[in-house]
Amino acid sequence: MLITSDRLHKNIAACCINVARICAALVIAVSLLVIGGWHFDNAAFKSVIPGMTAMNPGGTALAFLLSGLALWVYSLPEKARLRHFGRLCGAGILLIALCYFINNLLGTDWGPDQMLYREKLDREALILGHVNRMAPNTAFAFLLAGLALVLIDIKIRKIWLAHVFALIGLFIGMLTVIGYTYHSLALIGVEAFIPMALNTGLCFILLNCGILFVYPGRGLASLICSKGPGGVHARRLLPVLVLLPLLLGWAFGMAQHTGLLDEITAFSLFVVLNMFAMTGLALWRATALERNDQMQSLNRLELKKARDDAENANAAKSEFLANMSRELRTPMNSILGLTRLLYEDEDLSEGHRDMAGVVYRSADNLLDILNDLLDISKIEAGELRLESIPFSLEEIINNVLDTMAALSSQKGLSLACKYNTGDMPYLIGDPSRIGRIIMNLVSNAVKFTDRGGVTISVICEPASPDDVTIELRVSDTGIGIPGDKLTSIFDKFSQVDPSTTRRFGGTGLGLNITRHLVEMMGGQIIVESELGKGSVFIVSLPFKTTDLRPVIVKQTIHRDSHSFLPENERRPVETVRILLAEDHLLSQAFMKKLFKRLKISDIDIVDNGRMALEAHKKNTYDLIITDCHMPEMSGFELTKNIRNLEDGGHHVPIVAMTADAMIKTRERCLATGMDDVVTKPVNPDELELVLSRWFKIVAPEPKRKGKGKEQKPAIDLTALIAFMENENELQYYIRVFIAQSDETLEIMRANSGGGENRAWTEAAHKLKGGASMIGADRLKNLCERAQDMNAATVADRQALFAEIEQAYNEIKENLAELPPPA
Ligand code: ADP
Repeated sequence: MLITSDRLHKNIAACCINVARICAALVIAVSLLVIGGWHFDNAAFKSVIPGMTAMNPGGTALAFLLSGLALWVYSLPEKARLRHFGRLCGAGILLIALCYFINNLLGTDWGPDQMLYREKLDREALILGHVNRMAPNTAFAFLLAGLALVLIDIKIRKIWLAHVFALIGLFIGMLTVIGYTYHSLALIGVEAFIPMALNTGLCFILLNCGILFVYPGRGLASLICSKGPGGVHARRLLPVLVLLPLLLGWAFGMAQHTGLLDEITAFSLFVVLNMFAMTGLALWRATALERNDQMQSLNRLELKKARDDAENANAAKSEFLANMSRELRTPMNSILGLTRLLYEDEDLSEGHRDMAGVVYRSADNLLDILNDLLDISKIEAGELRLESIPFSLEEIINNVLDTMAALSSQKGLSLACKYNTGDMPYLIGDPSRIGRIIMNLVSNAVKFTDRGGVTISVICEPASPDDVTIELRVSDTGIGIPGDKLTSIFDKFSQVDPSTTRRFGGTGLGLNITRHLVEMMGGQIIVESELGKGSVFIVSLPFKTTDLRPVIVKQTIHRDSHSFLPENERRPVETVRILLAEDHLLSQAFMKKLFKRLKISDIDIVDNGRMALEAHKKNTYDLIITDCHMPEMSGFELTKNIRNLEDGGHHVPIVAMTADAMIKTRERCLATGMDDVVTKPVNPDELELVLSRWFKIVAPEPKRKGKGKEQKPAIDLTALIAFMENENELQYYIRVFIAQSDETLEIMRANSGGGENRAWTEAAHKLKGGASMIGADRLKNLCERAQDMNAATVADRQALFAEIEQAYNEIKENLAELPPPA
């Protein structure tokens, strides 16, 4: 393979640095030898080969000493001070080279050479007949080496300057050495000057090789050290390419020198052999490349097959997971629905109800996990599509707060939301997915916090006229997350430590889904946390704004700060006194019933705002709940008056009731000074939630049948009322029910003989439907029995019919007692 392993790659890089060090050490050694040779008059030390030109001491040897030192310090692990020293040495070399040129230009004779060795140089000049000076090519090569060492870190357009200078220096050095090898004096020196010494040429080769290799990650060295095919080829070819012509040249040079071959033959042979050798090398490498390419094609095919297999398997897994969770969710919903019914069954004993409660909660948890799995599999299969519809962020946040309020107050935690602006725009996006993101973060925050509280801060920053950036910060004062886990908690199935699951439950999917959703929406999520102090999850999301009013999915309340008092600061609801201002009689009756269900019995009811204001002046109420539109004085005026009276003093909570689910109406209620809003028809759970902001509420017990206790009423209109727009509509439906049931009852009477009778069964079925609409359980059960009477005797059927008729008449009486429509 033409790929180098990681380990080998490291070794090669280390090898490069070692080469540079060896070069540096040799250059230093040679320069010291020469200086020593001059000092002790040792000719061998001065010129390596006795009788050949000696290296100049004060210029050349000194400059090499400085070069060697610079190269050596550059090869050491990086330290600023060492690098300065290296550059200083480089500057010294430049000075020495410049000395040479200046002396030549001005005809002077100064420099370290003359300062240190004047006497010895003069003496040698007398013997040799010429003065030992630095050769011009040596001076030029030093100029380049000095520049290379000073500018070692400078790179212009991907080219390292030091490498350019080093290559030219290397060329000069090699010219000298080869000249000596081939006995060609013309190559060594410029005529009229003393030629470059052999050891000088060798030192230039070493020095410039050192400069090229001292940083394995740069330029040519990086190519030679590279892991890829380029590096492999370069390492294999280079030594042969350098050595082969050298050896061939030397051999033929010798052959010619000794008279074995004449000049032309030697030269021709040299050229031809070089051509063959180079072609051979090229073919050798080309074959290797070809083989490598074939292997890579094969590998690519295998890889593609493996990737396709893995993708298919992954898609199958995701599809299976999605199908499975979808399939599991259907029975799960039935289990939840039925367990809830079971839980609310009055005939259940206390123990059994508790068990039903446990089953309900477990099934609910299981459904959450299934939903997580379904989402993950959809995300992974790329099946998750985001919606783009107008929505209100406050509505979503309030829903989350409403859902989490009970748990956080049970734990004694405060739960609050702050907005940086009172005027949040409507946004365009996927409200259910945004709800999911916030819910995941807030439920985690509540889950992992035992003391203190959880706060959501919403910062809305306009980015352009139609765009905003929303920053959501969910902060808690909980257990915190260790620094090394801050990224991994966003991975699938990841939890800070396994004990988390044991202590707090959870699957480790929530944050993964959250991150996916945030990223799909073009946003980002980060977390900051301090162990033991708490965490802040920060989500920033870009949105387009809209003037379109979103459809209000569920009654929610716009609040600048939606907060719940911790449980220990709330008064028990049984002890509170409430004032209800409401002009509709049916609604009054209904509200009274709801309050009674919540164990509130101290209620004063008035018909309009004026009466409410008077009652407020006379009595002290813990809460006022008022309709918005009433004769004489509206709920808005009432609130303004009360707030004026209070004048910043004791603040009585006022809750508005409105049939208008629009956000703007709620905003108006709150702007007037009301504390909260419920929509009509009032949903019992919602009323309970709103009241739980100020009072401690024990979940209402289902009524017990019990011996001699209160009899269940014949009808329960709660469900019907919840669907009606107003009382007229309710009355209308009741009239329809009576007219239809009268007719049905007559059909049953006519068919109350024995044996199978289809008309009887169908009539019973129809009456049963009507009975369940108005919550007439007894009539419904009787009709159910009637439906099953296929083989009944005349006596049986008539006895049952008598019971049905009696139950129906009772209901009619009950319905007649209702107040007339307004
Ligand atoms: P789950 O809560 O189901 O375990 P998540 O993906 O929602 O899964 O969270 C992953 C883990 O991140 C949690 O198990 C918990 O260890 C850590 N974590 C998340 N939110 C918080 C938080 N607010 N405070 C402390 N730890 C947290």
